[in-house]
Amino acid sequence: MEKIEILDLHFQDAESTIGSFLISGPDGPVLVETGPESTWPHLKAGLKTHGFEPEDIRAVLLTHIHFDHAGAAWRLAEAGTDIYVHPLGLPHLANPERLWRSAAQIYGEEMDRLWGKMAPIPSGQLKAPGDKEILRVGGMDFRAWYTPGHAVHHIAWQLDDILFTGDVAGVKIGSGPVVPPCPPPDIHLEDWKKSLELIGKINPKALYLTHYGVVEDISTHLQNLRIIMDDWAKWMKKQYDLRTPVEDIIPQFMAYTEMQMKEKGVDGELNALYEHANPSWMSVNGLLRYWKLKDQGRIP
Ligand SMILES: [Zn+2]
Repeated sequence: MEKIEILDLHFQDAESTIGSFLISGPDGPVLVETGPESTWPHLKAGLKTHGFEPEDIRAVLLTHIHFDHAGAAWRLAEAGTDIYVHPLGLPHLANPERLWRSAAQIYGEEMDRLWGKMAPIPSGQLKAPGDKEILRVGGMDFRAWYTPGHAVHHIAWQLDDILFTGDVAGVKIGSGPVVPPCPPPDIHLEDWKKSLELIGKINPKALYLTHYGVVEDISTHLQNLRIIMDDWAKWMKKQYDLRTPVEDIIPQFMAYTEMQMKEKGVDGELNALYEHANPSWMSVNGLLRYWKLKDQGRIP
């Protein structure tokens, strides 16, 4: 059995919000997720703790191309590693300008502080596995499961009876509840639920969540995720129908989710970690966009 280390990337100096997974196989180490480039020093330090340099990594497997998962992939590519990514995400890593510009519209001045820098990855080092394809890297077999819903370019990576779920199995920190991260522009709840059904069928023994850590009570976890996803979607639909301005929705939604957290025994400090990993304002924008596309018939 391979050893899996969770490297805490200390995003914005907070613990347990973004992780990267180091798996040491018989033919060398493999990394699932890189975190953002802003936490690259923490990733390098984490590798060093386990006796590795970036040059030692045999392959990087990305669940999707959002900055908090893939932002430092180009650093690993620079160190000589191949990067495995969904075919719909690949062009954005080869030419990140558009991805960067659209994110800059959202984050503005905060881009550098939150995400660091981004540079293109040479196409020769970018590989896109097919759905259900098995890759042999580091002497281990990883299977790529296409799992859209949170992002169209999402892969859950299976290693034996473990599944690295990126964001598709939600965010759960410490003793807190699972919640769905809903950033724009790809939120598609029908696809997301199909992906959750698929995860149930794959029937892994453990899920490894990028935000954050190991989940073993999988059927309860997935069921709770479905419930809160529907709850948030319903809440947002009301605001969408009322045409409430987004700047008015955000504080209301933050108050609503904070109340939900409190009901589940989550205190202010843990709620702040959730806001780091999965800011409410992003989910407002993502869910409003989902309802708009539904309204326009662009999502059946
Ligand atoms: Zn994401």
